[in-house]
Amino acid sequence: MAILVVGSVAFDAIETPSGRRERCLGGAATHFSLAASYFTDVRVIGVVGEDFGPDEERIFERRNIDTRGIEHVPGKSFFWSGSYMKNLNEAQTLNTELNVFQSFSPKIPAEYEESEYLFLANIDPVLQEEVRHKMPRVKMVCGDTMNYWIKDHAENLARVLKGLDALLINDTEAKMLAKENNLVQAARKVLEMGPKALVVKHGEYGATAFFCERSFPGEASTVTVPFRVPAMPLAEVVDPTGAGDSFAGGFFGYVASQPTLTPAVFRRAMFYGSVMGSFAVERFGTERLQQLEPNEIEERFALFRQLSHLD
Ligand code: AMP
Repeated sequence: MAILVVGSVAFDAIETPSGRRERCLGGAATHFSLAASYFTDVRVIGVVGEDFGPDEERIFERRNIDTRGIEHVPGKSFFWSGSYMKNLNEAQTLNTELNVFQSFSPKIPAEYEESEYLFLANIDPVLQEEVRHKMPRVKMVCGDTMNYWIKDHAENLARVLKGLDALLINDTEAKMLAKENNLVQAARKVLEMGPKALVVKHGEYGATAFFCERSFPGEASTVTVPFRVPAMPLAEVVDPTGAGDSFAGGFFGYVASQPTLTPAVFRRAMFYGSVMGSFAVERFGTERLQQLEPNEIEERFALFRQLSHLD
């Protein structure tokens, strides 16, 4: 099974209480695909500039991530700089330069057309919609977005939300999207906008999945009680950048590795999401997710069991 992901492939400048990096490989599609690559085949659609070279390419290659859908064009790659000095749970965006993404029109290589799963990672909703449109036969579509797009691109985003099986966003974004301060009421409103399920990420406090009658239509008993997973309590969070995308990569990667999406698979996927998010924050940028051993993932999954199970 393969996941096709479209989203930003970027260079990030990051400052956190643990230090700073002036330029490291980032982007929503990058973090997502590294995390998902531990569970299933991943193919990326995106665009980069001349500053994206063999060193960056190798990071994807080492994880067997298919990058034939990453276009190389003249100009500079997407650039984002953020600070976590005020709040480790939420990035303060200092600068966003879309650069080569400004005139990007996604093309799907023939080899990608039969991908069963589609992830619309954080990027202009117009591009998310274009890719969704070109992949009509996928089994499941999940997506992400952020305040930048919610604020000024609401109409375009509304069209994307209608076609999603699950939307994964953080709690500030969920409240902003619903224009509602209470999370449960915000979730209800977001689900009315189209997604069949909603996963709200709470940074160091874990994540909650909200369901509705449309979440598991094949199930005899419809699950509508929310489901919450914790995050791993860590002694040091070095860099939270990409934690949300890594959560999404672990979540969707696990779903894609399973024969069907049942409520039990969804819940387990939430745990794998939290596992991958917990690794992502241990080092700057993608450093930690570049070199994980599969047994480390299972060991941490076992720790999550101890952390959250009564018996
Ligand atoms: P997160 O998982 O939310 O921490 O995502 C972090 C990644 O999102 C960074 O590596 C950035 O390059 C990328 N990013 C930041 N702003 C945007 C944006 N407006 N559109 C797409 N990607 C972004």
